[in-house]
Amino acid sequence: MNNNLLTILCLEDDARDAEIINELMIDAGYSVKIDHVSTQKEFIKSLSDNKYDAILSDFSLPGFNAFGALRLSKEISPETPFICVSGSIGEETAIQLLREGAVDYILKDRLVRLPFAIKRALEEIKEKEIRRKAEAELHVSERRFQTLAEVSPVGIFQTDAKGLTTYVNPRWCQISGLTFEEAMNNNWIKAVHKDDREKLMAGWINATESSLPSYAEYRFVLNDGTIAWVMGQAIPEKNMKNEIVGYVGTITDITELKRTEEELIRARDKAEEMNKLKSNFLANMSHELRTPLVGIIGLSQVLNEELNDSDGKRYSKLILESGIRLRDTLNLILDLSKIESETLQLYPEEIEMTEYVSSLARVFEKTAEAKKIKLTIKSEDELLFANLDKVLLNSVINNLMNNAIKYTFEGFVNVDIKKIIEDGQYIEISIRDSGIGIAEKNLSVIFEPFRQISEGWNRNFEGTGLGLTIVKEYLNKMSGSIIVESQIGVGSTFKVRFPLVRTKMSDNSRIEIVNETAWNVNKSVKNVLEKSKTNKPLVLYVEDDNISQKVIETILEKKFTVESIDDCDQVIGLVKNKHFDLILMDINLKGKLNGLDLAKEIKKFDEYASTPIIAITAYAMVGDKEKMLDGGCTHYLSKPFSRNELIELLDEIIINHLEKN
Ligand code: ADP
Repeated sequence: MNNNLLTILCLEDDARDAEIINELMIDAGYSVKIDHVSTQKEFIKSLSDNKYDAILSDFSLPGFNAFGALRLSKEISPETPFICVSGSIGEETAIQLLREGAVDYILKDRLVRLPFAIKRALEEIKEKEIRRKAEAELHVSERRFQTLAEVSPVGIFQTDAKGLTTYVNPRWCQISGLTFEEAMNNNWIKAVHKDDREKLMAGWINATESSLPSYAEYRFVLNDGTIAWVMGQAIPEKNMKNEIVGYVGTITDITELKRTEEELIRARDKAEEMNKLKSNFLANMSHELRTPLVGIIGLSQVLNEELNDSDGKRYSKLILESGIRLRDTLNLILDLSKIESETLQLYPEEIEMTEYVSSLARVFEKTAEAKKIKLTIKSEDELLFANLDKVLLNSVINNLMNNAIKYTFEGFVNVDIKKIIEDGQYIEISIRDSGIGIAEKNLSVIFEPFRQISEGWNRNFEGTGLGLTIVKEYLNKMSGSIIVESQIGVGSTFKVRFPLVRTKMSDNSRIEIVNETAWNVNKSVKNVLEKSKTNKPLVLYVEDDNISQKVIETILEKKFTVESIDDCDQVIGLVKNKHFDLILMDINLKGKLNGLDLAKEIKKFDEYASTPIIAITAYAMVGDKEKMLDGGCTHYLSKPFSRNELIELLDEIIINHLEKN
């Protein structure tokens, strides 16, 4: 049809009929061009030379009829609709014509129907054309799917609505080692590793029953016995009515990935094992280093007090300071190893922070004074309580104070403990110094392990670069935080925050009570010591290291009578025959029994049931203290300790145990 002009080939021997047809079509609103032919020859010629929108044919023509015309039209122009227009045809003939491809037939006494018949025929052609196009597109898309499926690097499968496999692509066969036929229905399951079958089928049944996407990782056992790991996934395929008609899915070969994963797991296990070895190594090293340090620190302190000549005093002081530095470094390394091995146990307790932190900072008064630095400690009047682990808190404050004084040459170090309200309530400890300062670009680096601003051969300050790393880790463990503000040449401020648990208004009596208690304690110690001048408490020291024996005997000789024994097999015999007021017990002994075994044996005697036994050990790893206290010892002292630490502990024991008994 050209610009709504309908072209019709009319095979009719009666010119009058052709005229009527023309008029009818015009009346029905069509613009028509009708070619009128009346012989077979003309019909063939017109049909061959032109393209018509419709053919109208009388039934009987001279030497020719509609069947012949219909056949010719199907040969020459098969798409053009053919309508038979006849004076009278029987029903059977009409049906036969329709069977052979005519689209309609019209009786001449009902010619008014003709425009509708043509209209319908044309619409049918249009629909046919649309259908043909859609089919062609479908065909192209199916070809495309086939091509993609054939070259796809992943295995593709399709199933029916029940989940039975109906199609697999070549890559699927390559991964699974099965042929197309072997894969059909549920047969492919036989090639799945028997340990994976049950889980895979359960997952698949669950997915098909609930119409959900499925995902699984499983193994195919190939013909030669090798394993292929695959990751399979499938999603339901739905029709226009949203009904599931099947599933499409993929399998991806993840054998390499699995191998790498297994290697990584092996590497991780190995690393964990190495880490354990490292912890053991550190525990042993810690023991080996601590024992000689007892001798160095203890005896240099004694020497420093006993010697009268100034050189001797100076040298012994240097030995003492070196020993302490070595001990502090050792402690830092051990602290870090505790954090790294993730075995750090926290023992939080409620701490009143203004007093506690002030007392920790006051320990640095002497060092500050020696460098002519003014140390000021300020705190709120209100008492501020936090729930923290004392050991960790000590380490945080000591490291920050130590740095503030180390990196300051003149001026001040100010410690300020106060309450902060800022989307929550906090205790803030700020440690401000007028030292060398830190450049902006280094502010994040200083919290990394072993990092120091002056690194390399020409570094200017002593230190390990571990202090701030440990501070940060400990703060994390205690829900604390830290920020630094600093300016080169002006100074640094480290601000630490902890969650505030509660507050209490302080009263002056607190100070008096504290002072009074301190006075009472001193008085008690003095009383006991006065008493013991004549009758010194008898101390048994079980230790197989002769230098340690000497150190302790020398430190304690003024206040105690010390009897040392290095043969642990003799200890039980000795305590049976003589009563000791307290026992110092080295744990790592070379005999059959270790110190803990001995402590347990001694505690079995009635007269030693309440005798203080102090575990002295160079093992200072995580949980050691708890092990000692659970194992029968009443107190714990880790090597190397200073003279004061030992004497303070024994003073406390005298007041709490010996004096009461
Ligand atoms: P170190 O043992 O070197 O002091 P830290 O981890 O405690 O190790 O500190 C890391 C680095 O941060 C130090 O080497 C120093 O350069 C810098 N630093 C830390 N505290 C201060 C401070 N108060 N003033 C200036 N620099 C500091």
